[in-house]
Amino acid sequence: MFQAILLDQANGRPEGFTARLTTLDEASLPPLNEGDVTVAVQYSTLNYKDGLALTNKGPVVRKWPMVPGIDGAGTVLESRHADWRAGDAFIHNGWGVGETLWGCLAATARLKGDGLVRLPTAFTPRQAMAIGTAGYTAMLSVLALEDQGITPASGEVLVTGATGGVGSIAVALLSRLGYQVTAATGKSAQSDYLRALGAAAVMDRAELATPGKPLQKERWASVVDAVGSHTLVNALAQTRYGGVVTACGLAQGMDLPGTVAPFILRGVTLVGIDSVMAPRAKRQRAWDRLARDLDPALLEHMTEEVPLSAALEKAQQLMAGQVRGRIVVRITA
Ligand code: NAP
Repeated sequence: MFQAILLDQANGRPEGFTARLTTLDEASLPPLNEGDVTVAVQYSTLNYKDGLALTNKGPVVRKWPMVPGIDGAGTVLESRHADWRAGDAFIHNGWGVGETLWGCLAATARLKGDGLVRLPTAFTPRQAMAIGTAGYTAMLSVLALEDQGITPASGEVLVTGATGGVGSIAVALLSRLGYQVTAATGKSAQSDYLRALGAAAVMDRAELATPGKPLQKERWASVVDAVGSHTLVNALAQTRYGGVVTACGLAQGMDLPGTVAPFILRGVTLVGIDSVMAPRAKRQRAWDRLARDLDPALLEHMTEEVPLSAALEKAQQLMAGQVRGRIVVRITA
């Protein structure tokens, strides 16, 4: 028997949604097929997507009942995959887990061995979940800027959604790498927090939140955007000639209400970032760079730990914009 969060929809209707902490039998897990591993999850986390799932605010869960939790870290209990043995330490991010496949807000999970990444020796399972999909996505965004030729010498970088999970880790990574970071936030009271992560300047996100001109004063050599909508469009319109913008999120909205002017008149590049289906080699590259470039003290500074029993309440706070940085969920540790 093991503890888990379980989401369900009575009669398959959104208004019949329930979310509860419960005890499940191992026999309720999907069968252990060739290529699968059974794992003990020591820590999980709450990303934006987990917040949507746990509060039934977005169409994240596509099979019911569902154990949510897109991320997990812990040890392998049993393996039918050639690369994994009992006792190995793993990280899991994405791959539809917590959406169509049972996830990691549970003490035991059954996952595809192909989807796991080895826990870098630099990190404990708790630190890996303090990073989670949010931090690994921040690293994918930094790597995308580098792959497009951006360096600290290129000029200022803007990070939007800066006190969020992706934003906090992007600020910490970029400043450690020597970039001059401007953090856009709606939480003016968190300016000191953002400066402690390494932001050189903090701006009010309201400056980016409403419709603006197709081309604006050139400011940013690069942008890491987790917000979408008008914020992303204005960031593109303020990006300097030849600059690079990454888009990973939709905290403001999924729309992109802009023009092609930044692309065709300033040669701006917009790079899409997906963490969910990213191939294993790309994930390993991101985690190896996180091990090298993320200051563990800053990671701790942005992290709050809650037990599994508090995950549902914390998800409500996350969706209400009352959370700063990252939340780790203690499960069997
Ligand atoms: P999070 O911790 O909840 O942070 C989101 C941040 O966005 C908030 O802290 C807030 O920062 C800002 N924000 C919220 N509502 C906003 C609004 N209406 N307008 C402007 N800014 C707003 O979430 P996260 O885990 O960092 O994820 C951020 C986004 O990236 C989400 O949309 C998530 O789905 C997406 N994401 C995508 C991938 C991928 O694979 N593409 C992976 C991970 C995350 P401030 O208060 O500082 O402004």
